[in-house]
Amino acid sequence: MSTYIQKLGLVLKNYTDGLGHLVFTNVCLHCNKELVAQERYLCWVCWDGLERTYFELQTEATILDKLFWNRVEIKHTCALYVYGKGKISQSLIRALKYDFKAPLGIFLGEHMAQQLLQHPISKVDALLPVPIHPKKKFARGYNQSELLARGLSKEWGIPLMKSLVRKRKHTSSQTTNDRFGRWDNVQNMFDAALKNTNYGHILIVDDVITTGATLESLARAIKATDPKVQISLLSFAFTK
Ligand SMILES: [Zn+2]
Repeated sequence: MSTYIQKLGLVLKNYTDGLGHLVFTNVCLHCNKELVAQERYLCWVCWDGLERTYFELQTEATILDKLFWNRVEIKHTCALYVYGKGKISQSLIRALKYDFKAPLGIFLGEHMAQQLLQHPISKVDALLPVPIHPKKKFARGYNQSELLARGLSKEWGIPLMKSLVRKRKHTSSQTTNDRFGRWDNVQNMFDAALKNTNYGHILIVDDVITTGATLESLARAIKATDPKVQISLLSFAFTK
């Protein structure tokens, strides 16, 4: 009898282990290697392989700072990782945007916050995620920049601004990469409604910065409402 129970126990254990494997199998978002305990979203090798910009350590103006020169006044800019085709940062952003991975967004926001604890960017008054069109938000289930900002807000204890700026036009098909061509497309996209907020310094949070056109547009819309407000930018990744 006891052997029978032992056997039954073993069968059950194998069954539940197998089931657990099926349900909880977690693979690295970049290399597909099965993750071991403590590894989250990426294996250690891929976390290590994420290419850093190290903008936060530079004392001179970075290429990201220079991107906004003569366009709009930005106090501080920072982006943690280099974005590009086939890069580990792209695998993370793709999963965040297209795989319904909302907890990943908050996790990456917390991760960014921890890396930038000493940076002046962590001392702003409020966090403003780049808004996305409600149609996109509905299809995706969330705004990925808002998730990053939620993670930052949690770690830094800085309030999150929500729904103060609306994106007016649905601009999913921006075919031209020309900076000024895109600017025509996005210049009227935002409708700032920042009156009576009294924030002295706002940090705009984005997932990836490419041309900076959307951020320029958003920053201009905010400044049009409150010329005294200081604006800084933080994104997870930057396309060099
Ligand atoms: Zn990996």
